[in-house]
Amino acid sequence: MTERVEILGVNVDAVTMAQAVERVINLIGENNPAIVATANAEMLLRATHDDELKNILNAASLVVPDGAGTVWAARHLGKVMPERVAGFDLVQELMKIAPARDIKFFLFGSAPSIADKAKLKAETLYPGIKIVGTRNGYFKADDEPEIISQIKNSGADILLAALGVPKQEKWLAKYKDELKIPVSIGVGGTFDVMAGVVKRAPLWMQKARLEWLFRAMLQPSRAGRLVALPKFVLKVHKQKTAKS
Ligand code: UDP
Repeated sequence: MTERVEILGVNVDAVTMAQAVERVINLIGENNPAIVATANAEMLLRATHDDELKNILNAASLVVPDGAGTVWAARHLGKVMPERVAGFDLVQELMKIAPARDIKFFLFGSAPSIADKAKLKAETLYPGIKIVGTRNGYFKADDEPEIISQIKNSGADILLAALGVPKQEKWLAKYKDELKIPVSIGVGGTFDVMAGVVKRAPLWMQKARLEWLFRAMLQPSRAGRLVALPKFVLKVHKQKTAKS
């Protein structure tokens, strides 16, 4: 077992990418519907005023440190956090090993046709991969029974849900027992990036921990979200001083 680091009331697993992948494989074997969350600064900040989200995250089987902010926070609190495990990268690593291990995916979420494009991309990048179903993420409550039965009967081992935070986490928590999919992961904008609709930051920016800035520049509609970062930093600092 790896350590969990409490950041603003949420326990985040201090895992490397390799350990995260191994945990997901083990969770598939356990066959007891599990939720995996990818916690970035924005999600952790939201959890401070959204108890439902906070409880879901603390009940999740695995919470990976998605984003430079989460890694910084753990280290600022004096804890070990080996590396950033971005949701997008975790999905790619799982897809890479999927053909050899016969791991099947269902892609749920994003605008119509995006999940299908992400499926095609996955099939090109990871030959032999089985994407057993797709469904866009824009639906009414009336559509849910049909979506649930589509996912449930797909035979997927991993459900990737891209509905945005916190909608995807809440949806998965509400329906995981009914869906009976071994592992469900909330993956935010992953399909948009895979489909080529949204670009990932260049490697140098990722390495300089500036991916958040790149996303804000590219999608100005997201710029408002940037205020979350200084708020997050202040809150983590408060947590540190409260404890020392
Ligand atoms: N989305 C969706 N249904 C909704 C709202 C959003 O499928 O009702 C999708 C949206 O199209 C996008 C993803 O959810 O593909 C959210 O991406 P974003 O990068 O905003 O993720 P976040 O930062 O919230 O994790």
